[in-house]
Amino acid sequence: MISFREAFEQVVAAAAPVGVERIALDRAAGRVLAVGISADRDLPPFDRSERDGFAVRSADFFRGGAKLALTGETIFAGAEAVSAVTSGFCSAIMTGAALPPGADAVVPVEKSVRNGTAVALDYEKIVPGIHVHRKGSDAAEGDLLLAAGTVLDGAALSVAASVGASEVDVHRKVKVAVLSTGDELVGVNETPGRLQIRDGNGPSLRALIESISWLQCVIHRRVVDDETVLGASVVEALAEADAVVLSGGVSMGEKDLVPGVLKRCGVEEIAHKVAIRPGKPFWVGAAKHPSGRSIMVYGLPGNPVAVQVTFRELVMAALRRMAGLETIEPIEFRLPLAENLRKKLPLGQFLPALLVPGEEGTFVRPVTNNGSGDFVSISRADGVIVLPEGELRLRPGDPVRFHLWRNR
Ligand code: AMP
Ligand code: MG
Repeated sequence: MISFREAFEQVVAAAAPVGVERIALDRAAGRVLAVGISADRDLPPFDRSERDGFAVRSADFFRGGAKLALTGETIFAGAEAVSAVTSGFCSAIMTGAALPPGADAVVPVEKSVRNGTAVALDYEKIVPGIHVHRKGSDAAEGDLLLAAGTVLDGAALSVAASVGASEVDVHRKVKVAVLSTGDELVGVNETPGRLQIRDGNGPSLRALIESISWLQCVIHRRVVDDETVLGASVVEALAEADAVVLSGGVSMGEKDLVPGVLKRCGVEEIAHKVAIRPGKPFWVGAAKHPSGRSIMVYGLPGNPVAVQVTFRELVMAALRRMAGLETIEPIEFRLPLAENLRKKLPLGQFLPALLVPGEEGTFVRPVTNNGSGDFVSISRADGVIVLPEGELRLRPGDPVRFHLWRNR
C-alpha cells in the first residue's frame, strides 16, 4: 500500500496531454490554451482618456486652477482629433478617445464650470499624464498575455479577442468513459428489487465530467459483475476514451473482478491500494492504444463517498494534466476547525466538511455522517478536510487543510 502523496504523484506522472486542435475563438469558451497568446500591438494602442472631461496642458495650471478657452472640438472614442491643444486652450474629450496633440492630461467634467466658449477648471491633482491611460502601459506589442495551460474563461477570452486571436490552439477535450460495476445496480428509471440499489456513481461521475468544460463523457454504462461482460465493456471503453473510470469491484470480495479483467484487457497496473479513507482500494493502470497513445484507467471503490474522494482528489489531477492545464494541484486553504476533532485512524483521511462563516472569518466543520457509505451527508459538504496519516487530536481554532469542492 502506498501513501496518498505517492499515489498522487504516480497518477499525475502517468498522465500526459492528449493532443491539440485549432478552433475558432467563438467556440473556445472553457477550453485550455495549448499555445500562448501575445499582444498584436501595444495595449492600450494609443494614449487614451480615462474620463469624460477636458484634454488640457498641465503646464497651463497654476495652483490647481486654470481658465481655458475651448477649441470647440469634442473628441469621441474612435474619432481622430482635428485640432491640437495649444497653450491656453482645451478640448472636450470623452472616455476612450485618443488624447489630441499638445494635451498631456485630462480633467474630469465634474471639476469644471463652463462659461460660453471658456471653461474654469479646478483640479488640485493636476500632473502630466493624469487620467491618461498611456499607450503600451498595460502590455507592449509581443508581450505574452495568456500562457499555455490557461483556461479560456470570460476574462481570458476578453484578452484573446482584444488581440485578434480569432483562432486558437487548444488542448483536445479529454474523453472519459464511465463504467459502474455491480450486480446489485439498476438505473434511475427502474424500480429496484428489495436487494437492489440504484446506480448513483455513474450519474455522479458523468455530472462531474460534464460540468467541466475541458472534459467529455463518451461512455456511461452499468456493467454486471461478469468477466466476459465486463471485459467487453472495458475493450470498448479503451477504444473510445482517453481515460476510463470504473466504480466498484476493486476490493477483496469474490466478485471484485475489475483488476483481473483490466489486466486481461491489456491494462498494466501502476498502483493498487492507497493509505486513505475513504478510497483505500483505489486502482490505477494504463493501456496502449494501437495508435500508440496511452489510455489511463482508474478503478474506484464502489462506495459513493470513496468515489467522490478518489475522483476529485486523485483522478482529477491526472485529467488536468491530460487536458494541458497549468495547475495540477487542487486549490488548498488552511482554515481553522470549528470543533474538536479526534482521529485514531492510521490512514490518511478525507473528511467531508462544511464552511462555517463567522465574525472572525471562515471556519470548517466536518459534516456529521453515518460511516463510509453515507452519500447523503457528503452531498451537503462544501469540500473535504485533508488529514495526514497517524493519530491526531485537534482543538477548535487549529488550522487544517481544506479542499473546496463546490461554490455555494
Ligand atoms: P464494491 O466496491 O463493488 O464492493 O462496492 C462497495 C459498496 O458500494 C457496495 O455497498 C455497493 O453496493 C456500493 N456501490 C457500488 N457501486 C455503486 C453505485 N454505482 N452506486 C451506488 N452504490 C454503489
Ligand atoms: Mg461491487
